[in-house]
Amino acid sequence: MTDDTIAERFKRTNVEYSTDLQERIVKSRDLTKFVKSLSIPDIVVYPKNEEDVIKIVEFALEEHVPIVPRGSGHGSVGGVIPLKGGILVDMTRMNKRIEEDEDTITLEAGSPINFPARVYPTLWKRVTIGGNFCGGSWGIGSYMYGINWDQVIEARMVNPLGSVVTLKGGDIKIAAHAEGTTGIVTSLKVLKKPGYREEARIYLFGRLKDAVRAITKVYEESPPLYHLLLRSPQMSRLTKHLGEFNKWQLLIVYFSESEPEEKDLPRQSYVNGKVLWENRDMFFAGVYLKHFNEMYYSTVHVELDRMEGIMEKFKDEYLEVEFANDRLAHIDIMSNRPINFTLDNPFSVDDIKINSRLRRDHLQKIINYKKRYDKEDLFNPGKVSLEVFQ
Ligand SMILES: Cc1cc2nc3c(=O)[nH]c(=O)nc-3n(C[C@H](O)[C@H](O)[C@H](O)COP(=O)(O)OP(=O)(O)OC[C@H]3O[C@@H](n4cnc5c(N)ncnc54)[C@H](O)[C@@H]3O)c2cc1C
Repeated sequence: MTDDTIAERFKRTNVEYSTDLQERIVKSRDLTKFVKSLSIPDIVVYPKNEEDVIKIVEFALEEHVPIVPRGSGHGSVGGVIPLKGGILVDMTRMNKRIEEDEDTITLEAGSPINFPARVYPTLWKRVTIGGNFCGGSWGIGSYMYGINWDQVIEARMVNPLGSVVTLKGGDIKIAAHAEGTTGIVTSLKVLKKPGYREEARIYLFGRLKDAVRAITKVYEESPPLYHLLLRSPQMSRLTKHLGEFNKWQLLIVYFSESEPEEKDLPRQSYVNGKVLWENRDMFFAGVYLKHFNEMYYSTVHVELDRMEGIMEKFKDEYLEVEFANDRLAHIDIMSNRPINFTLDNPFSVDDIKINSRLRRDHLQKIINYKKRYDKEDLFNPGKVSLEVFQ
């Protein structure tokens, strides 16, 4: 089918669209470097509301063409690349606040993260809430609150039958980090963070070993921290204006209303972390974006006791580790040369498929749903392998 015939037929939906070549190329890319695919969509479409999304899905089903949703394209794993062409659905015009109360907010999926989110990615100033829910996972705040989808109370989705479904409880994982393979999320109801003042400290360590020991103690004592992050001396060289430390920096952030007891924190000298915290958009992903043309990036999630060994291997590169309540260390690595992650790790991102990034129960939910409702594999094809045991 040529672009024009798709466009001709798509006109009947009355949804805004473009077949401009440059636009199709730009919209089919994200921040991935390891994927060399040049596939582009036949058409880019711009829904303004849920009714438009239903029309687009109905069109895709009638025409048997693939359909790939897109937020702001700041993912790092090729999630928005339409491997089999078809319709690329740009969600950024669906950006309305639907309702809000003291504890929750309901937003259209293309909305920016401009509310007090409990968990948010370093690139929160640029991304959409739907893109982060469908393509992200842990982030700032994960030490206290867990993964981003743990904060979601309800997700509305147009599923591969064209029906609007409201996912709640355990079913939220059908859409979370599914990259649109199970449907297009139209809105999310999420929990908000309380408006407490945040305090930040930076503990400094000459040796990685000592920093790791301090982190282990923090996990054992479980003080009420909001965020916990470790940066290498090399990383701070890339953000000199935020303070240059020739040491490992352990950033801890807590709510002033629940200051942790000193005995539960590292017994180590520390400095005020206000400047670093206020510039948290320049944590790892922000820095990577700034150095995008000369740097490569990879990330891996490992149990705490394996962290030190892996970091030692990469100690000359730029390292940052986010800690979450799942007791995994989420290690980000940036280098001037491609990083070949051949380590035997359960979770890593150097693969366009979501399989290596999710726990088995989560993946199984996505696969079951996809097998049941997307028999033609039209929803972001190529992003999930239907074999869970590989
Ligand atoms: C160096 C680096 C570090 C990063 N670190 C983190 C991190 O720590 N934590 C984290 O969570 N993220 C991280 N990211 C990834 C990225 O920043 C987030 O996932 C981001 O929130 C993506 O948002 P987006 O709007 O750009 O989504 P996109 O990139 O546009 O989309 C992401 C995926 O979601 C799908 N999608 C988008 N919208 C919808 C929808 N409405 N319905 C169904 N599917 C949809 C897309 O098809 C795609 O597969 C990092 C990225 C980089 C480059």
